[in-house]
Amino acid sequence: MEQLAVINLSCPSCGQDCKDLRRYALSHQLSVLESNIDRMCAKFDSKLNALLHSMYRTKAELDRSFGTFVKALRPGPLTGRTNQDLVTTRGNAMAEVQSDISGFRDHVVRPFENNIANLATFLGVAAGADETDMSFPYLLHFDALFYRSRLIVLEEGLRMQIALNNIRGNSQHTSIMAKTLQAMTVMEAKEHLATIGTAIEACEAKGLKRLETELRLVQIFFHIVLRDAGTRSSLDVSASLTKIQDLCQTFPKTAGLLSNTYAAVKAVVYGQQRCGRMYTEESVKVWWTWPKYITGKLKYCTFGHPYSGETWADCPECGEEVQKPQARNPESFLKEKDFVAAMRAMAKNTKQWRV
Ligand SMILES: [Zn+2]
Ligand SMILES: [Zn+2]
Repeated sequence: MEQLAVINLSCPSCGQDCKDLRRYALSHQLSVLESNIDRMCAKFDSKLNALLHSMYRTKAELDRSFGTFVKALRPGPLTGRTNQDLVTTRGNAMAEVQSDISGFRDHVVRPFENNIANLATFLGVAAGADETDMSFPYLLHFDALFYRSRLIVLEEGLRMQIALNNIRGNSQHTSIMAKTLQAMTVMEAKEHLATIGTAIEACEAKGLKRLETELRLVQIFFHIVLRDAGTRSSLDVSASLTKIQDLCQTFPKTAGLLSNTYAAVKAVVYGQQRCGRMYTEESVKVWWTWPKYITGKLKYCTFGHPYSGETWADCPECGEEVQKPQARNPESFLKEKDFVAAMRAMAKNTKQWRV
């Protein structure tokens, strides 16, 4: 009698030993799944960086050519059409990058994240981490990039609107255009402010500390756009700034990378400086020096975020949490009883902190 059951099977593709066909199939699928995820993560990471580069190139080009644009604007009743063409050209400068972002997000990233989630459920595996499901950050990253590209466009809209209003002997056509530009900017900024709020909630749920910080910063920039356009926004800015500061301190290796941008934004919120501070050299340095994703060592953090163990020692989305001793309200030390209690609590905390 043939003893088929005792034959040691190994997968012809990945070489793993398999006791039976069911396990063979699963084991092979899992290995293929892992290497697909690894490759896609590398691809998404490099695509994000490439798009970010073209976005900032376009932004730099808009800054460079602004003076020329202002000089080309003409006063008088017959120049409305010419001025409109100048405005339209600048307003569309980001169109290509933007359709690249949304195209890639909707046709590649979204189906990938959905399919992998379904496949993992079907195979009954939570790849990588023992108990955590996979939690992909990419769809939200591409959303964030899209908001950033719209922010550049809206900031440009405001800047052009001011230039149009400054033309002496303005034509009616041109001043209507300026009003329209402002109305469109306000409407869109309000819309993004709200939808970014939803994306921030998603980041909180997924433990995406760096991305949450980035989105909060972008949201505050939309708030600044509204302020500069003379409109109020519904955002509780000081609460969000506190939250950002907290994230930067608690997760110094991930959210903390954006602390320079945080300082720049805070200066704009409380000072009278205008926008555009998201693009300072220090703020964008973190993106220019972003390391390349190296495949072959796919890892998952405790939140289930995939990352390259070859590129990063720890998850670049959340990273190590730093426990800091809680700051105490000095008034609570005034009463002796409270003081002693506070001392005890602090001693206890310090002990725990050292362990
Ligand atoms: Zn295999
Ligand atoms: Zn993580």
